[in-house]
Amino acid sequence: NTPLHELDPDVAAAVDAELRRQQSTLEMIASENFAPVAVMEAQGSVLTNKYAEGYPGRRYYGGCEHVDVTEQIAIDRVKDLFGAEYANVQPHSGASANQAALFALAQPGDTILGLDLAHGGHLTHGMRLNFSGKQFNVVAYHVDDAGLVDMAEVERLAKEHRPKVIIAGWSAYPRQLDFAEFRRIADEVEAYLWVDMAHFAGLVAAGLHPNPVEYADVVTSTTHKTLGGPRGGIILARKDFAKKLNSSVFPGFQGGPLEHVIAAKAVSFKVAASEEFKERQRRTVEGARLLAERLTAPDAREAGVNVLSGGTDVHLVLVDLRDSELDGQQAEDRLHEVGITVNRNAVPNDPRPPMVTSGLRIGTPALATRGFTAEDFAEVADVIAEALKPSYDAQALRARVTALAEKHPLYPELGK
Ligand code: PLP
Repeated sequence: NTPLHELDPDVAAAVDAELRRQQSTLEMIASENFAPVAVMEAQGSVLTNKYAEGYPGRRYYGGCEHVDVTEQIAIDRVKDLFGAEYANVQPHSGASANQAALFALAQPGDTILGLDLAHGGHLTHGMRLNFSGKQFNVVAYHVDDAGLVDMAEVERLAKEHRPKVIIAGWSAYPRQLDFAEFRRIADEVEAYLWVDMAHFAGLVAAGLHPNPVEYADVVTSTTHKTLGGPRGGIILARKDFAKKLNSSVFPGFQGGPLEHVIAAKAVSFKVAASEEFKERQRRTVEGARLLAERLTAPDAREAGVNVLSGGTDVHLVLVDLRDSELDGQQAEDRLHEVGITVNRNAVPNDPRPPMVTSGLRIGTPALATRGFTAEDFAEVADVIAEALKPSYDAQALRARVTALAEKHPLYPELGK
């Protein structure tokens, strides 16, 4: 059993280079985080070798006695974490969880109502080229001029189109959704309510965000964003949906579950129930708030920088560059040049094409995991504001980024 760097130096070199990139830059992609070493250890374990089609206690393969333990731990922990009656921890990703959930609630050709992709929704909520857009009749709701989800439009469209499923959830939205109002509307038109909490699940686990499990028929999530675990998906629901959801995941869409990832999910759910995790999520939200505050200061506005909805309640800020001389691509490149990684993002009614855009999505979960305090977030916010001005000193800003990265070493146990 030859170690990776000997067996495959090409792959090993790229992995090492990626570690150094993560260590030396500031990761502010809102959907990213740093998984604990223990999570990566479980994910890199011998469980990767095991076939386990089926569910704990009801498998189609022998030798599942140990993966039954880890999968059941994952199920029990995530049910406890979110107060859910049912959990499925097998979806390979957020998109897989969403596919299984949607097909459990509706049939191809049924109408679904979700947030428009260009207004912050996700591909799986009805985008034209996605399974959701190809196989379902999609009606989309939007944000209003203040950048808030237009609940009056949700109600109007729900009454007009009588969807089978209403989807509440987002990939790029800086505020909390009104789940009680979504529930009321869903009940009025006899639709199922599905909440996709992929982005804000960590905040829910920490009690910093309303818990959609209390309102929705089905809740899906990823495990790798604010939740801080391995890449993957989960489905939570009331127990009357258990049979349908289980068979939708397997054998509906998936074969053998990734038991090594499921074990890593179990570890991350243990972490997510801790006081330390709550404290980290508080710093995450505080960091985003400080960032929004800095990017709405007079000098930022003068540079044409605006913040959608005027602030944030969650872990991200949406920057509107329509008044700036920079487009989304240029702003992303500029931050990359000083060592900050973000992604460009369309703003509602964006005049530019999706590959360019007029906005940025900037998130704080990964830096909070790295240990950033309010003071550190204020400093990184200042660096971002300076970098987005017409003239900026790239070298000086890069030095400030390096100082922050060195102040909070990432994965020191994995070497440099
Ligand atoms: N749902 C939402 C709201 C998301 O933002 C994402 C990912 O960006 C997903 C689902 C899909 O997750 P994955 O990339 O794991 O398929």
